[in-house]
Amino acid sequence: MAVSRAVTINLEEPDDESKLTLMEKWRKHVEKKRKEGHDAKVGICVVTSLLAFQIPSQLIIFLYYIIPTLFIEYSPWVQYYLKVFIVFCCLEFCANYLCVRLYDTMYRTTRDNPQPKEIHERWRNPPEKFVPLHPNRNGTPNGHVEDNHGGLPWTYCDVCELKIPPRTHHCYFCKACILKRDHHCFMVGTCIGHKNQRYFVVMAFWTMVCGLFGGVFTFVYIKHLHWPFAPWTDFFLPLTIYRTLWHGSIPLHIGLMIYHLHMEFLFGALGTFYFISQMLIISQGKTLYELTKEVPVKSSNSVNSNYVSVFGNFWGLNFIFPMQILFQQKDDGVKWEGVKLDHNANCEKQVKYSDKRSSIKTV
Ligand SMILES: [Zn+2]
Ligand SMILES: [Zn+2]
Repeated sequence: MAVSRAVTINLEEPDDESKLTLMEKWRKHVEKKRKEGHDAKVGICVVTSLLAFQIPSQLIIFLYYIIPTLFIEYSPWVQYYLKVFIVFCCLEFCANYLCVRLYDTMYRTTRDNPQPKEIHERWRNPPEKFVPLHPNRNGTPNGHVEDNHGGLPWTYCDVCELKIPPRTHHCYFCKACILKRDHHCFMVGTCIGHKNQRYFVVMAFWTMVCGLFGGVFTFVYIKHLHWPFAPWTDFFLPLTIYRTLWHGSIPLHIGLMIYHLHMEFLFGALGTFYFISQMLIISQGKTLYELTKEVPVKSSNSVNSNYVSVFGNFWGLNFIFPMQILFQQKDDGVKWEGVKLDHNANCEKQVKYSDKRSSIKTV
């Protein structure tokens, strides 16, 4: 494995912004916001208010309109079980949403985990045994790592000035280092990492169930009781809101249902995407961060062991009840058994990285 000093490259930005494509302008804007430490509190307020309105109103609509109307020919027990199921789905979503928000997955120094002063200097001026980490997508290296013979290395966060465990990465939105950072979720308003990923996946699962199940039943109700007598423009959301609240041509509960229909399919699609993608990524023993940043991490653990690492033993039970107390996660967020740097992938990337460096120098 090649050993060299860590280097920093500043790619020169083009002076003329008009030459940038729309996507490049968007990336530049996002990067600028990330560096400024964009505050996510506005997003949290919007999503919390949305959920505080969406969940109770959806429950009322289902319990008092949709189930009694669509299942009028069935026995009262069928209606009763369906109502219990709807309430159970909402409780599952709310419980896991709260767990995602409340379980702190940040990495901090504590009395048991002090940060010696010399660490800062040592990581600023690394000795020869430090190797440059693979470059980011834009070609700049994203730090340097200590060669510890194949095991996942500790790195250093320049923002927090902390030596941080393997797979921990800084989040500019949370303004902290996150243990086994997966991604920052704007819907929940926090980072998804080692301690709250299990709840995030279960929340995505129940979002998918609530969204798709609710969407189909709402659609059937509207199709039978409103669609035959209504113009198609009633289903255009801004007009729906206007005609419900000001014009009065759409009854309040129907207006709410048309609004719910849009939100249910939106949340259902988002939940399906996140649930399936997270389960696939976890099965490989990786994180979304490692996939998108092309961190060459390789897990030799079995698929079941990778799920146990995130959910704890009997991981399927998490989808019925949060199991944090009974079945804790296998890993502590610092040591990662069976997960190593993929040296072959790393070497390939380092060759590409060297090529890019020489091309920059010759310009
Ligand atoms: Zn940090
Ligand atoms: Zn974050």
